[in-house]
Amino acid sequence: MKHRSASFDVVIIGAGLAGTTLAGGLARSGKSVALIDIHSVHPREFRGEKFGPEVMTAFEELGWGSTVRDCVSVFDAVRVVHFGRLVETKHERAYSAYYSDLVNGLRSGLPNTIELTIGRVIGIELSSEIQTVRLKDEQEFKSRLVVLATGLGEALLREAGVLRQVVNPRHSLVIGFDMAAHRECFPFVGLTYNPESYKHRTAYLTMFPVGDRMRANLFSYREPNEPWTKAFRANPERELALLMPRLRGHCPNLSVTGPVEIRSMDLVCTTGYDRDGIVLVGDAFQTACPASGTGMFKVATDVKRLASIHIPNWLATPGMSWSKIKAFYSDPVKRECDNASMRSSLRERAINTDSSIVWSLLRSRRYFGRHAYYAQQRTVMALIKLLGASSASKWISSSPPDFPV
Ligand SMILES: Cc1cc2nc3c(=O)[nH]c(=O)nc-3n(C[C@H](O)[C@H](O)[C@H](O)COP(=O)(O)OP(=O)(O)OC[C@H]3O[C@@H](n4cnc5c(N)ncnc54)[C@H](O)[C@@H]3O)c2cc1C
Repeated sequence: MKHRSASFDVVIIGAGLAGTTLAGGLARSGKSVALIDIHSVHPREFRGEKFGPEVMTAFEELGWGSTVRDCVSVFDAVRVVHFGRLVETKHERAYSAYYSDLVNGLRSGLPNTIELTIGRVIGIELSSEIQTVRLKDEQEFKSRLVVLATGLGEALLREAGVLRQVVNPRHSLVIGFDMAAHRECFPFVGLTYNPESYKHRTAYLTMFPVGDRMRANLFSYREPNEPWTKAFRANPERELALLMPRLRGHCPNLSVTGPVEIRSMDLVCTTGYDRDGIVLVGDAFQTACPASGTGMFKVATDVKRLASIHIPNWLATPGMSWSKIKAFYSDPVKRECDNASMRSSLRERAINTDSSIVWSLLRSRRYFGRHAYYAQQRTVMALIKLLGASSASKWISSSPPDFPV
């Protein structure tokens, strides 16, 4: 049992993606930061495994660019399949890593002014001046500001007086697994396979390289306890082939290796965060449906706004009352990012599963709209081949519309 007490500008609870990147960003600008996490090494856990250039740009702006590049795989070509047909190859840079490798890589790149303390935080006392954070082993940390970056955990939110509100319980079911064959054995670099019909409550399957492996994430709106979910865990190859009958035409080898990781995700936001001395970041404030692919961008946006604008402003003047902290929650960039993530999480589930007349009509509009669009693209391509008319290529847009709802 340790009896230690130390003081900092900022104590960050949770050294996941949000806590670690924020700690580094603040320490690099001269703030004294304590970072606390339960685990000395972030355990293997199925979380966000792929992100786009906008997240990388945010990491770079926070001084994390080279550390992140050392822990991720980079790829530039993703085949997109709709209704069983290859419709385009997207040439946009993307990055991938097992989540624990990314977080542990970030932790190893922390400036040496930051001490990562391992322990479970069990108590937080808040005031408009000095905050106190207590660990299970009786260590105590004092700071001007506490950042809660504890992800999906609920216990500490309650301890801080913040309430979690489940917007939609069991909003989505996400499945992650490694393909058995080496990544070089696949006829593509990356693949996004959209459902062949809307009846299976499936958002999409994505396959992407991680190191020398090919990783797969299947995003669906199924229930964790329904027979399909159990069947998928027992025999993923068979269930994939049944779910997406034309998948084998694009990915002949569907052999899966290792554990099939299945997570049921609630869509959650918080209330009661209008407290002195504390700010919530990343999933601790609001989760995203993994199918929306917005969770890591939301983390990056929160961290960038806090590290570059809000926390330096708050520390520049005495006190740490809610009247200062509320500037973060009303920050238009953060709000738009959170709202866009929530909108996209709710819309994608509704358009895939909601049987009301309005959503059924919107689903049909998307279905027939996409069919018509791709049929038109194929016709134009055929004409170009037939006539050799390079000028006809102007009729092909570089990327298909999303048929928004
Ligand atoms: C299955 C799944 C798939 C996803 N896929 C995608 C995707 O494809 N694209 C995308 O952009 N996003 C995706 N996301 C979302 C993304 O992973 C999260 O938004 C992001 O990881 C949140 O990071 P965080 O730092 O807020 O939380 P975390 O990384 O969970 O960090 C929380 C940390 O707090 C620590 N902690 C908790 N309680 C305590 C305590 N009492 N004391 C000390 N430490 C504590 C934990 O140990 C942990 O290290 C996915 C999420 C899931 C679950």
